[in-house]
Amino acid sequence: MSRIVYVNGNYIPEEEATVSVFDRGFLFADGIYEVTAVVDGRILEFDGHIARLKRSLGEVGMEMPVSEEELLAIHRELVSRNDLAEGGIYLQITRGNPGDRDFVYPAKDVPQTMVLFTQAKTLVDSPVAAKGIKVIAVPDIRWGRRDIKTVQLLAPSMAKMAAKAEGKDDAWLVQDGFVTEGSSCNAYIVTKEGTIITRNLSNSILPGITRASVLKLVEETGMTLEERAFTIEEAKNAAEAFITAATTFVCPVVEIEGVELSGGKPGPVATRLKDVYIAEARKAGI
Ligand code: PMP
Repeated sequence: MSRIVYVNGNYIPEEEATVSVFDRGFLFADGIYEVTAVVDGRILEFDGHIARLKRSLGEVGMEMPVSEEELLAIHRELVSRNDLAEGGIYLQITRGNPGDRDFVYPAKDVPQTMVLFTQAKTLVDSPVAAKGIKVIAVPDIRWGRRDIKTVQLLAPSMAKMAAKAEGKDDAWLVQDGFVTEGSSCNAYIVTKEGTIITRNLSNSILPGITRASVLKLVEETGMTLEERAFTIEEAKNAAEAFITAATTFVCPVVEIEGVELSGGKPGPVATRLKDVYIAEARKAGI
């Protein structure tokens, strides 16, 4: 069955959805995006994603094309029209179509392009999370404002392909000897003493919405947390590792650069955080 997608105010079958060849999202990757999880037909972490969307848009001099209330209504309408029980909603806002190619930003009266579509996916009983993932390390070749969620995703896509070429699941990105984050997720290790370590927020990483919620749960459950950079060497010697992202939730990492962690099986800390996070996020779905 074809999906109903949203393009600039209209709900239309995906085959009929079009965007101009002059769209700045297409020509310059001049666009911001968000991905929000849906479970039980309800949207998870909506407020967090919209707050980050507003911030990202602001950092590149764009505005919210519609109000938060309208955005929520569009998300809900897409869930309903596509009968989406579980999966994600992708939202992209670009600087629009100025009618030609020019590095200079178009005038403010050029309408932005806003596109949303649904992606059905098993999230809660993810077979990937049940097994855990294997990661490699690759140099982080992305730009200097990774805190902004832009659609320029070629570098992370190349990192993911490097992992696939080695028969692994994902890549952790390394800059100046330290892990920044995963290709499309935040990265964590758990020391043998049970301390959870994840990179501190800065322009070097995306402030994950799942990260923020998971760190709150970590503190509430009395676990020790250190927000700091760590090396691949430290990660290989860790008791466990895991990643977080909106439609991945908490996913255990069972191998880093060929070194098995927690006996090649999801570790207890990652598994517990995964279960607690899913239960809490699900309860708060709207
Ligand atoms: N870092 C990067 C580079 C990402 O692409 C993502 C997911 N889009 C994340 C972290 C996780 O962010 P979130 O939990 O908000 O999905």
